[in-house]
Amino acid sequence: MESKRCYVCGKELSKNEIGLTKKLIDKKANKFYCLSCLAEYLEVTEEELLAKIEEFKEEGCTLFK
Ligand SMILES: [Zn+2]
Repeated sequence: MESKRCYVCGKELSKNEIGLTKKLIDKKANKFYCLSCLAEYLEVTEEELLAKIEEFKEEGCTLFK
C-alpha cells in the first residue's frame, strides 16, 4: 500500500487515520489528515476520533484494522 502523509503536518499516516479521513470527510478524499490535525479540522477531540475508529471497526469496516 502506498504511504500517505498528513496534508497539514506531513506526518506519515496509519491505515486508521486514512480510513477515518475517508469516513468523516469524503471517501474519495485526496487530502488526508493525521489524528490530531483531523481533530482540529473537525473541532472534536482525539478521544472522540479514537472512539469513532472503534465504532467503525465494530461495524466491520474494512478501512480500519
Ligand atoms: Zn497532521
